[in-house]
Amino acid sequence: MHATHIIGNGSRTTVNVALPTRALEQCPALILNADYRPLSYLPLSIWSWQEAVKAIFRGTVSVVYEYEREISSPSQRMKLPSVLVMKEYVPEKRTPTFSRFNVFLRDHWKCQYCGDKFRTQALTFDHVIPRAKGGETTWQNIVAACQCCNATKGSKLPSECNMHPLHEPRQPSIHELEAYAQKFPPNFLHKEWEDFLYWDSELEDGYVH
Ligand SMILES: [Zn+2]
Repeated sequence: MHATHIIGNGSRTTVNVALPTRALEQCPALILNADYRPLSYLPLSIWSWQEAVKAIFRGTVSVVYEYEREISSPSQRMKLPSVLVMKEYVPEKRTPTFSRFNVFLRDHWKCQYCGDKFRTQALTFDHVIPRAKGGETTWQNIVAACQCCNATKGSKLPSECNMHPLHEPRQPSIHELEAYAQKFPPNFLHKEWEDFLYWDSELEDGYVH
């Protein structure tokens, strides 16, 4: 592609103009385990381009797909990786991370008191046994709750306000979360990653091109 640029002194010259390049921050790499499944789903295993490049130089990964985007140093140029695979199999984690996202995922974004579904921004967490009464911040004592139910329950025990969670909170298995997560693909998937993820193609609107 060519374009005519006017240079500061008014003279015209024709220069090569590269196609719009993707910002480096938009070039994360999907990391696959040695069996070509993502290293983790929850959260999805994604490395920044810097981490990805370091791993290539350490020799712990192989490149599966590349972006068109290149980086260069005085001595070499390289295309940034889009998908990397671990050379050695990393054993699967057995328990899911106790995180905000995973609690919402376990509870299906449903307030565990009124049963209505909410968007993430409208949901809060409730300590079933209030902290003031010794309740801990654990899988077994935290549930998703809408702001209204959370305020109503306040720092009362379930028996004091007759508000009991729809499902007894517990630590889910990785597989339970993964099965439900299939319905909620993150909205930043790159086209190149499609082959390695199990989400339905009907959800492809979420892809970034
Ligand atoms: Zn509610």
